[in-house]
Amino acid sequence: MIKNAKIVYHGGDYNPDQWDEKTVEEDMRLFHKAEINFVVLPVFSWAKLEPEEGVYDFGWLDKLMDTFEKNNIKVGMATPTTAQPAWLSKKYPEVLPVDKQGRKRTHGMRVFFCVNSPKYRERAAAIAEQMAKRYAKHPALALWHVANEYGTFCYCPTCEAKFRTWLKEKYGTLDNLNEKWNTAFWGRTLYSFDEIMLPTELNDDYRFNPSVNLDYRRFMTDSTIACFENEAQILRKYNPDITIQTNISGHIENLDQFKMVKHMDIAAWDNYPKPSDDKSFIAYKHDLMRGLNNGESYMMQEQSPNQQNWQPYSKLKRPGELRMLSYQAIAHGSDTCSYFQLRQSVAGQEMFHGAVISHAGHENTRTFREVSRIGAELSRMGDTFLGGKRPAKVGIVFDWDNWWALEYAAAYCLPNKNFNYLKRISKYHKVLFERNIPLDIISVDADFCKYDVVLAPYLFMTKTGLAERIETFVKQGGTFLTTTMSGIVDEYNRAVFGEYPGKLKELLGIWVEEVDALPPEEKNKIVMDAPEGFTKEAYVCANHCDIIHTRGAEVLAHYGKDFYVNQPVVTKHTYGDGTAYYVGTEPEDAFLADIIGKICTEKGIAAPYRTTGNVELTERVNDKYKTVFALNYDKENAAFIELGTQTWKEMITGQEVSGRYEIAPYDVAVFRKEGSPD
Ligand SMILES: [Zn+2]
Repeated sequence: MIKNAKIVYHGGDYNPDQWDEKTVEEDMRLFHKAEINFVVLPVFSWAKLEPEEGVYDFGWLDKLMDTFEKNNIKVGMATPTTAQPAWLSKKYPEVLPVDKQGRKRTHGMRVFFCVNSPKYRERAAAIAEQMAKRYAKHPALALWHVANEYGTFCYCPTCEAKFRTWLKEKYGTLDNLNEKWNTAFWGRTLYSFDEIMLPTELNDDYRFNPSVNLDYRRFMTDSTIACFENEAQILRKYNPDITIQTNISGHIENLDQFKMVKHMDIAAWDNYPKPSDDKSFIAYKHDLMRGLNNGESYMMQEQSPNQQNWQPYSKLKRPGELRMLSYQAIAHGSDTCSYFQLRQSVAGQEMFHGAVISHAGHENTRTFREVSRIGAELSRMGDTFLGGKRPAKVGIVFDWDNWWALEYAAAYCLPNKNFNYLKRISKYHKVLFERNIPLDIISVDADFCKYDVVLAPYLFMTKTGLAERIETFVKQGGTFLTTTMSGIVDEYNRAVFGEYPGKLKELLGIWVEEVDALPPEEKNKIVMDAPEGFTKEAYVCANHCDIIHTRGAEVLAHYGKDFYVNQPVVTKHTYGDGTAYYVGTEPEDAFLADIIGKICTEKGIAAPYRTTGNVELTERVNDKYKTVFALNYDKENAAFIELGTQTWKEMITGQEVSGRYEIAPYDVAVFRKEGSPD
């Protein structure tokens, strides 16, 4: 959680270098009205703070910090290093990135610098140190926010040289690198580390070599961590009691976020769902953020109060939608509710992106009223759920190396070119979400034995020691489920010889001879051999079909057609005291719902409270309270929750409640019980 936080931080990005003193004064009035107690700044103000190299102007920021302190507003202070000033790009063009097409980019965009540039790092460290000296002990300081939305890849000569060094450190010898990358294929043997190039579009060999691409992403993750640490270690030195973080943007694929967040005190992310995104998909991303933080609370750092301006249609959030999204974030583990931005820009790239204070400039707007309502409700909750964790018995494994390796494999059409790891895993998450079954998203390094059930769909890459840890988990009584496209490569992205799914085959009691990848118009069927607990006798399956042979596993279902008709498609294997399931295809959603539902029932795992209708239900537990969040998404009908005989305090109305409680259409209820957990 955020160190020293006593309340939920409600606020967001404020870019007051755009405004005169009178406007700032008016904003203080409006912030109070909306119960905004937190601002993030000065994210984009490097140009103003350091107008020429080594010449700093902090006077305006000093004044603002004092204004915030006087107004009891906490500051998430950003180092402004996401947007370098023009003089820096002009004087030292090496700070500008080279893109995948090999083009040297010009100055202008944010997050548009080379993370490996020594000059960028030198100047970023210098301004971070100036800020740390000045503000590390300022009473308004709530946390440090380093740069913003990292993730730009660079392919410049500096990155190329550093990539070679990184590979030398990783592989030791060229012989080892040649072996691991299997450069003998296509005769691409390397005779010197200097021959290694970057996987740009100018270099088709490397561009299409999954081993090179995988290592480049790992290298960029390490480079970005070093760039973050370049500033973070200075900030830490001046005051170790202040939380240090940065925010993950919607494009979370580029960097291994499990590795990134290990260097931060808390995970933070920007929640910009598409209007068409299912609420379960948003919940899934929240759960992923909590997973990055090892189950601890995280920050929802940005969301638009009404519309975002970079999607094809800037659809407004409907009345009440912002409130529902804000509670959803909090219900899944966020300790903040923040917006981008607090006052709408007069011009520029995001002038039509939503803001709490719109171009109208006053409080008489639908958006301002909704933000004020959220602010008032959160104020009433105080520290109710702060730092609260979510107890869960089901873990879903997620891994960035696996994501990348699978999608590079998909580029070669195995299993097929449309494979999307994030979306595929979301289907498994959705089954639990719809049943309100608590779950954690966990890394491949997690302690599986904390859980009763571990789902690891598409576990393509089995890193050293992983299969053994899964075996231990199952032997001790755990239930494990994996799927097609699992156990196929090691951490070097080399095929594991000796039958798929490699090191998992003994545990699963099967082996897979071939994987058939079907075009979208072709389907097959999962025909149940053991229909007990399933709602249908047969289900549709698509995309990929493993040709499976059992070696001790029980066949739960077989294929309905094609040359592998009647061969197993779903199996179950007793291993030690536990059970391992294998789903050898991409099933329709109803099958996933049935098999995961059956597994949970057998393990006695269910929603913590009974609800009716379309209610999302979560629990958070901290040292003081157990808090239950119930979100009724039905816009027409009320829903009910069965709270049992104990007395709860409903935090929005302040009522003492128990038994059956009614939640109005499209409304939220937050119940608190003292002296948790029980
Ligand atoms: Zn570079």
